[in-house]
Amino acid sequence: MRLKTSYLADFLSLLFPQLCPACGNELVAHEKVICTDCHYNLPLTNFHLQADNIVAQQFWGKLNLEGAYALYYFTKGGKVQNLMHHFKYKGMQQIGNFLGNVAGKQLSGNPQFAGVDYIIPVPLHKKRLKERGYNQSTCFAQGLAEKLNGIVEENNLIRTKATQTQTHRSRFARFENMQEVFAVKNPEKLKGKHILLVDDIITTGSTLEACAIPLLQIEGLKLSIATIAYAE
Ligand SMILES: [Zn+2]
Repeated sequence: MRLKTSYLADFLSLLFPQLCPACGNELVAHEKVICTDCHYNLPLTNFHLQADNIVAQQFWGKLNLEGAYALYYFTKGGKVQNLMHHFKYKGMQQIGNFLGNVAGKQLSGNPQFAGVDYIIPVPLHKKRLKERGYNQSTCFAQGLAEKLNGIVEENNLIRTKATQTQTHRSRFARFENMQEVFAVKNPEKLKGKHILLVDDIITTGSTLEACAIPLLQIEGLKLSIATIAYAE
């Protein structure tokens, strides 16, 4: 039966070859989601080995974090951009789970990320969630949870109002615009817990910062941050 299934899969892949969403090459039988070459050669940050990495530095003096991490460097026109495009706009939700597993392997056993209780994805605007059908940060969170023994906690951190487009605003204006946009519905549940807050890409860090504000008001809460990519 197994042989038959794999024969069918091979036959279907001749008709509809699966392409690597990062480089566009055809995936071969044993490759899942991204090709082996990309798996080994996408630009890893290795931020988990460097506590004072550039993402951690962005929050110095603003947020008290246990750990700050991004899996890859994002460059314009690079393979990580292709990957993120397929993940967010081409319905390839499986990319999030796959990369969550890769990141989770790096973070498991790391003292800064030890004992993560809940993994909280940055909530998506309702309108965008409806258009896309999924929150990409939740897909990443689920992959992380499989390796970190944390529980994905959705719908506790919520958006309290929609924001205007961020594209043409300065860093300060963006932060102003994001303030008080997030709230925690059930803070009691998160008391004394280690929370890993996750997003897809970190640029200015303003969204993560806005999410962190209500979280850090909870008694005894420890906060860490992880994203798929870091864009300078
Ligand atoms: Zn590839």
